[in-house]
Amino acid sequence: MPRHSQILDSAAGPLPAPTDWQTLKPVALLRNVLRLTAPNPGFMTGPGTNSYLVGDAHTGFIAIDPGPADADHVARLWAAATHADGSGGNLRLIVCTHSHLDHAPGAAPLQALCAQAGVRVPILGLASAPTARANSHFVPDAALAHGQRLALLGPSGQDSHTLQAIHTPGHAANHVCLLLEEDGLLFSGDHILNGSTTVIDPPDGHMGHYLDSLDLLHQACTAHSVHFILPAHGHAMPDALGAIAHLKAHRLAREAKIASVMQANPQGDPDQWLPLAYDDVNPRLWPVAKRSLLAHVEHIQWLKSGGHAA
Ligand SMILES: [Zn+2]
Repeated sequence: MPRHSQILDSAAGPLPAPTDWQTLKPVALLRNVLRLTAPNPGFMTGPGTNSYLVGDAHTGFIAIDPGPADADHVARLWAAATHADGSGGNLRLIVCTHSHLDHAPGAAPLQALCAQAGVRVPILGLASAPTARANSHFVPDAALAHGQRLALLGPSGQDSHTLQAIHTPGHAANHVCLLLEEDGLLFSGDHILNGSTTVIDPPDGHMGHYLDSLDLLHQACTAHSVHFILPAHGHAMPDALGAIAHLKAHRLAREAKIASVMQANPQGDPDQWLPLAYDDVNPRLWPVAKRSLLAHVEHIQWLKSGGHAA
């Protein structure tokens, strides 16, 4: 059973916690999970990118998604990873869930701060695929294998925090989620968001892979009794299995709607299908929705071909 059943997020749990987004000091979601939100709120990033620190002063910390290359944010993240005497820089590993601009570019400057303090902290993740956009090029120091476990151990060997890597292509070909085994928490990166919908942008984004990855996450959350999902944007989400099932149903309903629009307008093109298939969505979002529409169209055509064509 997970060690903790409650999480200190005002939007997800019953305990009081700051309701505003904390970009200056970390919010302790659990004794061993801190969230520091990058000061990059916006159309695509919601309240900003959530950087997470997993660990404690005795075990050291793993940083998940250092965020954009924002020197102040990176310095605050470094300072938040405290030793027992309160000094910062107690980092062991830096992990990037994927290579997008709001997640990975902070890794190198965070690593440089550690190096200045005399500690070599490797950056882990998956290298960006050839399909990634030019601004999302990323090469980690070491690749994370699917199922690989990253364990932090205290000096007594009793305290431990273990993250398991789960390859989840779909939003980005090199996307990885991380499951904190002892606490039953899932760090979902951009695969699952709270308050916004993940964009699937082909060719690096892929709808078939996205749906398969959701199934994989459902299995992993079941196996490890995961209750809370901690997304890279937005509040913690309770009822992990329900949230995943809801997300999959939402995607399949959208795909069914797009398929029927395509069937009714067989001579049309994506620009003509878009306003019909997304008539329930603010037109302001249509340029972004078009990327996901293209991913659905690709998936629909693949299914129609019997799942054999590229
Ligand atoms: Zn993001």
